[in-house]
Amino acid sequence: MSPDRLTVVVAAYNEADNLALLQSRIGAALDRLAREEGIDGQMLYVDDGSTDATWAVMQHLASVDRRIALLRLSRNFGKELALTAGLDRVEEGAALILDADGQDPPELIPLFVAKWREGYDDVHGTRMEREGEGWLKRSTAHAFYRVIGLLSNTPIPADTGDFRLLSPRALAGLRQLRERHRFMKGLFGWVGYNRVSIAYHREPRAAGRSKFNFWRLWNLALEGITSFSTAPLRLATYLGLLTALVAFVYGVAIIVKALFWGDPVAGWPTMMSVILFLGGVQLIALGVIGEYLGRLYDESKQRPLYLVDSWQPARPTRAGMVGESPGEADRVQRLRGSAVD
Ligand code: UDP
Ligand code: MG
Repeated sequence: MSPDRLTVVVAAYNEADNLALLQSRIGAALDRLAREEGIDGQMLYVDDGSTDATWAVMQHLASVDRRIALLRLSRNFGKELALTAGLDRVEEGAALILDADGQDPPELIPLFVAKWREGYDDVHGTRMEREGEGWLKRSTAHAFYRVIGLLSNTPIPADTGDFRLLSPRALAGLRQLRERHRFMKGLFGWVGYNRVSIAYHREPRAAGRSKFNFWRLWNLALEGITSFSTAPLRLATYLGLLTALVAFVYGVAIIVKALFWGDPVAGWPTMMSVILFLGGVQLIALGVIGEYLGRLYDESKQRPLYLVDSWQPARPTRAGMVGESPGEADRVQRLRGSAVD
């Protein structure tokens, strides 16, 4: 029987300073798994259109370790699509996703694998605390998970990022979801199967800064809500009902007042506030519809999710595992390089 295959998928955007350290940590974890569990581990690095030396660093890493496969996208597509591209290339076995900045410790990979072997399909890391992240990010993240939990029928575990292992069948399930607006946490949740969470300590970023500023996170939150809930569309219905009810009561009050006390013309302030309020409510409702309509428009275009610039598969040795001498790998790399050029 061939050994179980595990591919560690890492999406990286301008992470040149982090990759070497990360690779040595992943490599060590996979060496241990190969020794102790007989698992055939590989890595797949996805360069999400980086503008720094990320691709060069990746190529260097792949030249010294034959277990590394490289995928470069034609431009920056964002983390969700970069991960999708990576997962699409995992042909065999399970996949484990982790961040390139060292925030998801590779030393925990054996724990994830142990759960996989127990029969779980979706093993996800849940952060116990978020170091190096300010209170604003923490509290908004907390609020977001609560809102989406209320609005969506898909189970989306709180404080759970993309650090997770997917069994072959969970991976196959995920591959069938080809929507353009990809809120990965939700897609993982949609797939289902046996899920288990592993609590872990999320380290601060090794080098560089987070690519997710407040605005990007806000957009990600909108993406999550619109992809996994249509509750906001119902907002207009309820707001409308509420306004109609208030208007009815107010109308009765005005009529009664006019009948019994006469009707000296007044009410400019009330009129103004009612007009402005209703105008605001209508614009909000239109905006909500627009959010959904825009996404529908994107889906209807049926564009491919991403384009690949170059793909370099892993070159496992016959034993299927740890690489040979760096000199040999370098030579192979040069040959490969000239074949591509
Ligand atoms: N990332 C990516 N494409 C992007 C932005 C980020 O592949 O357009 C990768 C990034 O290199 C890292 C991971 O996504 O491996 C998480 O990014 P980051 O650390 O900036 O996010 P945070 O940890 O702050 O949520
Ligand atoms: Mg990070």
